[in-house]
Amino acid sequence: MAKTSASAEGRAGALALILLAACNARPPQPEQAQAQEQAQAQAQAPARESVEVPSRARVDVHVHLVGEVVDDLLATLDRNGIAQAVVLASPHLDPDHPPSSRDDPFADWRAANDRLLRQTADHRDRLLPFVTVEPAEVEIAELGAWLERGACGVKLYLGHRSLRRRPLDDARHDAVFAELERRGVPVLLHVNSFRYEAELDALLAAHPKLELVCAHLCGSRTDLDRLERILRAHPTLRVDTSHGGGQPGIDGFTNIEGERARLRALIAAEPGRFLFGSDVVTTIAAGNMDATRHEWDRQIAANVGLLELERFEFWRGGEGVGAAVMGEYRGLALEPAVLDAVMGDNARSWLAGCGED
Ligand SMILES: [Zn+2]
Repeated sequence: MAKTSASAEGRAGALALILLAACNARPPQPEQAQAQEQAQAQAQAPARESVEVPSRARVDVHVHLVGEVVDDLLATLDRNGIAQAVVLASPHLDPDHPPSSRDDPFADWRAANDRLLRQTADHRDRLLPFVTVEPAEVEIAELGAWLERGACGVKLYLGHRSLRRRPLDDARHDAVFAELERRGVPVLLHVNSFRYEAELDALLAAHPKLELVCAHLCGSRTDLDRLERILRAHPTLRVDTSHGGGQPGIDGFTNIEGERARLRALIAAEPGRFLFGSDVVTTIAAGNMDATRHEWDRQIAANVGLLELERFEFWRGGEGVGAAVMGEYRGLALEPAVLDAVMGDNARSWLAGCGED
């Protein structure tokens, strides 16, 4: 269905090398340039019939902010027509602040929260900070203090296989989930639902009013049976549509392409339950800011394209271990009214309490 274009990148080398080579060799991707041109044209001319690039205010609910790159991130959002982004404290992803404990990549989560609140302080109209917590360690008063300092929500990584210390529904997490539920705090949760679906069920049974969004189609991008089962079991649960870079993105986009009609129907049936996200991590590739910007753009454009367009570009699995080339995927091309919800309105309603006292 989708063709693989053997473009200038060639097939040699590991994905990381290809990423850099591609970034240096290629102009900005066509969808994005086209989107900007169309947005400008729409601003000047009467409404057109084309709905391919709607001029809606997108909200990206899944960006990992690491490094001192706020200005670059804001410019990236501008280039991609994104009005606001949820930015996540990411202690385990920050090359500028490696963990103080070798055994625990999450050890310095409090310092990561402090950095995030400082970095976003002057940009809270566009960058909505989500702090993170170790829920068995955090004091309730401490959680409240972060919210009062401007944290919009909380990102939890405890359903991530490599960051997991105990089950999601462990009794030591109960006080924090009860408080998040009581206050209606937006929570973005990473769950490996292949492994921990039963724990998610138990957590949501105990805390049914959590304002929870479960990342990456609730960890079910490659198993829509599981996604359907989870959505059916938890009628108020929402999911984000983000696909990270590299192999997880390739795996998810490839599977969804094969089950396009099914996911399209699932979203169309309940558009209020799906929120656009890109899962961009704002690390700088090998010190090369141009290459970095290009890769951030590529990932955002692919995640937008998945929902808005008939076709979009991203890496596809190449021949040989670690090889990938740029190729085309079939997008979902959701209907305009569905896109209004998924690209922004759902996020705005989920985040409506942010910025208030
Ligand atoms: Zn993420």
